Order: sequence, then structure tokens, then C-alpha cells
Amino acid sequence: AFTIGVLAMQGAFREHEQMLQSLGCAAVQVRQPEQLDELDGLILPGGESTTIGKLMADFGLDTAIRERAAQGMPLWGTCAGLILLAQRIERSEQKRLGLMDITAVRNAFGRQVDSFEIGLAIPAIDAGGESAYPAVFIRAPYIAEAGPDVQILAQHEGKTVLARQGHLLASAFHPELTKDNRMHRYFLAMVAEQA
Ligand code: GLN
Repeated sequence: AFTIGVLAMQGAFREHEQMLQSLGCAAVQVRQPEQLDELDGLILPGGESTTIGKLMADFGLDTAIRERAAQGMPLWGTCAGLILLAQRIERSEQKRLGLMDITAVRNAFGRQVDSFEIGLAIPAIDAGGESAYPAVFIRAPYIAEAGPDVQILAQHEGKTVLARQGHLLASAFHPELTKDNRMHRYFLAMVAEQA
């Protein structure tokens, strides 16, 4: 069984933890750099990316996560976590990990509807049609530009909302807020590939 960390600075980390446990993983709430050593993979949850980025730097976790990522540890950023993975964030100088060759646009799906759920087609997890993935968006970002090494895995209204670059995965939606565990299983398959 894998040990998966969930960055627990702020935001939706408990729900990720429960989903991971239901899939037989050991889940660890990560607050200190030393905890990264025992992990097979790490999830960066949704929340407020400016706050999470600042706390991550205060605790020395940014440098430590970059080091583990350079060794090949899989990372999955969801919503605010997507923003933290991005090399570029439109109109923002906020702190980030800057690992994926993507440009993130924050709060990108309009102000009138802050949160919504849609059935998303994601061929990589066999989601589509009747078996579409229930994707929950909450003041979500999207990926405006992606470099040549980035695989686009799903789009909504022509905007990229799920992408992968090797052992790095970024989703604009909140996969921990549904009972559908296919996205978590996809990430665990990435972890298995590296192990
Ligand atoms: N809008 C938030 C941000 O920019 C992200 C929202 C979320 O994670 N649900 O940090």
C-alpha cells in the first residue's frame, strides 16, 4: 500500500485523506518538510492559493517539495493546488512551486456562479457520456497555455481543466468532493508507475 501525503496548510485536505483511506492508502497530513521522506506521492488540495503558497514557504515546504518532485515523486494539485503547480499565473506574483509548464488563470469561470458541478468527459479514466465524471468547480482556475510536454486530459467550455506533465497532475476541479474515486485511482496509478 502507498503512503500519500496531503498538504495540510489550509483548505480541503480532510476529504482527500478520507478518499485515499477508502482506497487502502495510508494518508498523511503534511505540515513539515521531514514528513515528505516517507511519501510515495503528494496531493496539493484546493483552498486559497495565495495563503497556501505563503504558508508553504514559511514552513520551508516549497523547497522540500521541489526537491522530492525532482526525484520523481508524483504530485497532484487540485484547484488552488493547480495554481501552485503552475510556472505562470496570470496577473499574479504570488508564491508557487512553479513545476508545470502551464499558465494558470485564477477564478476563471465567472463571478455570477461561484461553484457548479458538471459531467466531464475524461478519456484517460474512461469517463464520458453515461459515465461522465462529476466534476465540482469552486471559484476554479483553468489552464490557459501548456508547453509541449503537457498532456491535455480534459476541457470544459474549450478551457483546459485537467492536464498532466510526466509525474505531475493538475485538475481545476475538486475530486475529493464526490463519491467517484476514478481520479484518485488515476493518481495512484501514476504513483505505482514511479514506485
Ligand atoms: N480561487 C482559489 C484561488 O485562487 C482556488 C479555489 C479553490 O481551490 N477552490 O486560490
